[in-house]
Amino acid sequence: MPYYNICPHCGSHLDPGERCDCQSKGPEPKQRESADEKKEAKSA
Ligand SMILES: [Zn+2]
Repeated sequence: MPYYNICPHCGSHLDPGERCDCQSKGPEPKQRESADEKKEAKSA
């Protein structure tokens, strides 16, 4: 038996019982940063 699990989506090696990041990928935080930058620009 393998000592690690392989993500069936991206093929990355994961610890037993651990989910790959590609599975928990949601809304990118970069968008929030962009929104904050816009707000700052408006304030200024
Ligand atoms: Zn993955």
